[in-house]
Amino acid sequence: MVHLPDMRKGIPVSPGVAIGTAYCIHAIFVNPEKGSVAEGEVASELARYEAARERTAADLLALQDKVAMQVGEREAAIFAMHASILGDSAFTHRIRSWIAHDRMTAPAALSRLLDEYTALFSRTHDEYLKERLHDVQDVVVRLSAHLSDVLKPNSDALEGPLIVVAEELLPSQVVALGNIEVRGIVTQAGSQTSHAAIIARSRGIPAVSGVAGILRQTRSGDTVVVDGRHGHVLINPDAETRSAYRKLEREFFLLRDQWAANRDRPATTLDGVALSLLANINNVQDAQAAAAMGATGVGLFRTEYIYLTHPSVPDEQEQLARYREIVDAAPDRTVTVRTLDIGGDKTVPYLGHHHQEANPFMGWRSIRLSFEHPEFFATQLRAILRAGAYARSRGGQIRVMFPMITTLEELHRVRGMMRRACKQLEARREEYAVVPFGMMLEVPAAAVAIDVLLPAVDFVSIGSNDLVQYLMAADRDNPKVSHLCQPLAPAVLRTLHQVIRACGRANRPVTLCGEMAGQPRAFPLLLGMGLRSFSMSPAFVPSIKDLAAHLDIPRCRDMLAHALQLKTTANVKRFMSEQLKRIAPDLAAMDTA
Ligand code: PEP
Ligand code: MG
Repeated sequence: MVHLPDMRKGIPVSPGVAIGTAYCIHAIFVNPEKGSVAEGEVASELARYEAARERTAADLLALQDKVAMQVGEREAAIFAMHASILGDSAFTHRIRSWIAHDRMTAPAALSRLLDEYTALFSRTHDEYLKERLHDVQDVVVRLSAHLSDVLKPNSDALEGPLIVVAEELLPSQVVALGNIEVRGIVTQAGSQTSHAAIIARSRGIPAVSGVAGILRQTRSGDTVVVDGRHGHVLINPDAETRSAYRKLEREFFLLRDQWAANRDRPATTLDGVALSLLANINNVQDAQAAAAMGATGVGLFRTEYIYLTHPSVPDEQEQLARYREIVDAAPDRTVTVRTLDIGGDKTVPYLGHHHQEANPFMGWRSIRLSFEHPEFFATQLRAILRAGAYARSRGGQIRVMFPMITTLEELHRVRGMMRRACKQLEARREEYAVVPFGMMLEVPAAAVAIDVLLPAVDFVSIGSNDLVQYLMAADRDNPKVSHLCQPLAPAVLRTLHQVIRACGRANRPVTLCGEMAGQPRAFPLLLGMGLRSFSMSPAFVPSIKDLAAHLDIPRCRDMLAHALQLKTTANVKRFMSEQLKRIAPDLAAMDTA
């Protein structure tokens, strides 16, 4: 084992190993130019700020045009919004007044403004508003870069493949990253579901999040190793360590290329059993990534992202436009649409989520919230039914599923609302398709009484992220209880086994769409349980397809039988790691332990 003198630990968010040159995006905020200016310098500092503001406005306009042309009008809209923040008189007035009256330098004034905004926004639990903080940060980063040539991030000056080191990746930076070769991503903030994590995963870039203090310890130009399997980051490692990681990196990229070449190969096991490998997506870019990675459809479209990125309730036409876009980008034009899953950690102001709940994950969330907004819910149902007709006309299919179903009454109520939505569309002579009707299995009560619920649905999709947290009574986002929130826990395996068998007996198709579908150590066990349909982050599709080709069903059943005898999560993990090493040693590089 190599000696690792300077290893930092974070959350492994996107697997693989990469080594490259650090490109510190937020270096500007780590050491903001604090100083003040003398009275005689105030006028020139104000002029300096004005010049930077004009250059920033020109940048934003150019970016807006470029993105509109190369990506689309919708994607470009974010830069128009940034231009309006820049042009906001309150924003500029405060900066000018701090320079003129408090004799601050322009960068120091910007830093103060950002501190104020951060303090203000940190008191809100509103995800939509929190996202807006990213937009303000983005504008301030641009302005600051124009104020300081020394600190201006300039990827041209850096050699070799880059490792982006950032507080958290901002929307415009993500667009800009399209032009440079990014080998790895490290962020100070963030979690499995942060912006950076989602982008890294969908592009197959190794990434580690939540590395405290990394921006302070790294300078642009340093050599950085990112080990996205274990969440390790190394800064300027010695020659021996570097060459050990270079070898791992070569293996990882070789593997990725092989997988890319397998994109159009159908997913089958070693003994020829056909599998369905689908993608979980949040937007149209993810749908494109799903097609690029060889998924055969979309198994989970999280529609709440339409609402989270919209200032008011999106109307039926707007929603329909988004669904059509997704259908057009999705592999095989097949999309399983999940209705609004808001609440818990995601809130939107216009749906009345201003108050704080004591237990948001067990409270007014998901389908429970949709029932309380029957008008909004009906609008979504109509848009989905109409998108169903569109998908059919394009040779594909829409399916609809409902999150967090707990009781049979809920299913009956949703059915009734679906029927009413159909009638409304008929009255309007609007084209729609009767789409398959599914439930997400995420609540232990639904797992225990699955036989009661199955006759009322056409299909089931197991949301293991939530099912595990509810079963183990361990918040999926709380690192303090992450040792409990484990998909390989004996209780979870037993529950999944029982649900999958019940679906088989009742002849109801079943998919699993939680993170565990893409985890190499869980996958053989799910196959052993009889599961044949899996929906995962697009970047995991190639490696899971490769793993499937190494597995035969009898062997998976044996592994499952053994795993079910084991009494602790640690033992199941150990057993599956050993098995994986024997079956597909290459895949060890993809295991996020
Ligand atoms: C799940 O709970 O497993 C799931 C896929 O839904 P989400 O992660 O969006 O809650
Ligand atoms: Mg869920």
